[in-house]
Amino acid sequence: MKLTRRDVLKISGLTAVIVAVLPRMAFAARNALRNVRTGIQPGNKTRLVIETSARPSYSVSYPTNQIVVTLNNTSANANLAPQMASGTLINSITQVQSGDTLKIIADLARPINEIPRDNIMLLSPNGDNEYRLVLDFTAASGTVATTTTQKQTSAQPSRKYVVVIDAGHGGKDPGCIGKGGTQEKTVVLSVAKKLKNKLDSAGFQTYLTRSNDTYLKLAQRASIGEKKHADLFLSLHANANPSRSMKGFSVYTLSEKASDEEAAKLADAENAADKIDVSGFEQFDKDIRIALSSLQQHAVAELSVEYANGCASAFKRANITQQPGPDVRHAPFAVLRSTVPGALIELGHLSNASEEKLLKTSSHQDKLVAAIVKSVKAYNFDV
Ligand SMILES: [Zn+2]
Repeated sequence: MKLTRRDVLKISGLTAVIVAVLPRMAFAARNALRNVRTGIQPGNKTRLVIETSARPSYSVSYPTNQIVVTLNNTSANANLAPQMASGTLINSITQVQSGDTLKIIADLARPINEIPRDNIMLLSPNGDNEYRLVLDFTAASGTVATTTTQKQTSAQPSRKYVVVIDAGHGGKDPGCIGKGGTQEKTVVLSVAKKLKNKLDSAGFQTYLTRSNDTYLKLAQRASIGEKKHADLFLSLHANANPSRSMKGFSVYTLSEKASDEEAAKLADAENAADKIDVSGFEQFDKDIRIALSSLQQHAVAELSVEYANGCASAFKRANITQQPGPDVRHAPFAVLRSTVPGALIELGHLSNASEEKLLKTSSHQDKLVAAIVKSVKAYNFDV
């Protein structure tokens, strides 16, 4: 059974009631170990992923040449063979059950320092994954490399990754409009449909938030990502700037504070779509805040930035003009407020006469789509 975040909240409420009325029973662990896997991340980081059926309560300790993750109220998985990638710092992984506590002990090839909090992430369920505790680490500096030969059990993806494509604006909300009359809602819908086709044929499972000229609230768009258990959420837009000479693409991720004044203005402009019809968002926002621990918010933000950086690189490699400024900016975009990692991509400026012309052409739209497809393929979905 696949539970949504909201289901889990409901069930935990229900559990509380049952516990209150039943007499005290023999121990049964609330949580269960599902999977353990290792991998290599950019920067030669070793990644250890511990997947559990419920949100884990855990601690991490560092005996000599080991990492020990202690999971409270969790039962071991006797049938589990950890999926060990080659070239990581982990030689072997063992499970040790003692009472209702499960220890996952990773024997290390080289010493490491205590893992900073930023490199330990707790991800909520998506797709076929359950809760995942993710630890990224490198060898302590100054240690000598030892060569370890390991059997590799390659972890082929057992499912299609889910990408939700959001064509911004629509219906009564045209978005920005170029001097030549080109409407943002039309350009981004055309790009979104092309992108869906290409990603589908590349083996992804994709969904459009809208497939025609309809108006959707920002919270509805975000909730489609949640309902589809998306791995990635891409919101497509085109920009306008008071300076008609300004051009180029830009990529944004969600943050509570804007990274710069321009990003703040853009978030205000994009969020204004909902000022047409504000009802519903406040409640949604509150639900998300309850469900997301600060650690999860951090994890979603980190994955989003990882994708966004790759997206900006793919655009630059395709020689698509970039708006001057940093590769990735941050701002409080309502449409990105969810548990799904994602980015808002401003494909170009409709306020610039030459870019307005370009954005309308099928060949330029194909170029944009090809760059996004590359960035999605390069994104590491396996956490
Ligand atoms: Zn827009």
